Amino acid sequence: MIFRQLFDQESSTYTYLIADPATKTAILVDPVLNQVERDLKLLEELGLNLRYCLETHIHADHITGTAKLREVKGCLGVVPDHAQANCADRHIKDGETLQLDGIAIEAIATPGHTDSHMAYRVNNDRILTGDALLIRGCGRTDFQSGDAGTLFDSVTQRLFTLPDNTLVYPAHDYRGHTVSTIGEEKRWNSRFAERDRDQFIEFMANLGLPMPTKIMEAVPANERCGRIASPDTTNIISIDFSSTK
Ligand code: FE
Repeated sequence: MIFRQLFDQESSTYTYLIADPATKTAILVDPVLNQVERDLKLLEELGLNLRYCLETHIHADHITGTAKLREVKGCLGVVPDHAQANCADRHIKDGETLQLDGIAIEAIATPGHTDSHMAYRVNNDRILTGDALLIRGCGRTDFQSGDAGTLFDSVTQRLFTLPDNTLVYPAHDYRGHTVSTIGEEKRWNSRFAERDRDQFIEFMANLGLPMPTKIMEAVPANERCGRIASPDTTNIISIDFSSTK
């Protein structure tokens, strides 16, 4: 398996490029609009054909690169079941597997950061945890239908029940971490290791974080799979793909 972790400095977002080396088919998970040129260059250099763009959730801090990548590469945009994105080609449900030739990507519903968030287990040895579980942290729960109790349940019941040696690849990191394991997070992620459900809810209610600077533009754009509305709001810049859902 080809597996690359790519970083966007502005939003501290990790994008993952996964590909089957035998067939050269590829998927990008959580692509960032500002990094589309980087991703296209890497696909080209590795000789890969982009089949899917997959989102862990509707992001509030950056605009997805999916619309641009669909326009250029003709790939399919896949979003979690129930995500507010009618533009998607396909929705993926809890327990469903997206098969990328020799690579199996299994969706695991992990709501709490948003109400339709999915984590993706790749070939049973690693998991892309999105914003549900970060390394020694977790995504915030104070907007986009977030719910701290739901996130606690998702992490402790859906993620911490995976084998301890499962590699953890988050959607963001702000402190220089790149990868962890489920066993390491169970022991050292203080948000979960040192708190019960009620204590976690109280902790998350008092984080006092500012709103993401891009939330007002990012969420509506991401609900259109990354297409940007022009100032008159009626015109959408970029190609309008009809939904095949
Ligand atoms: Fe997020």
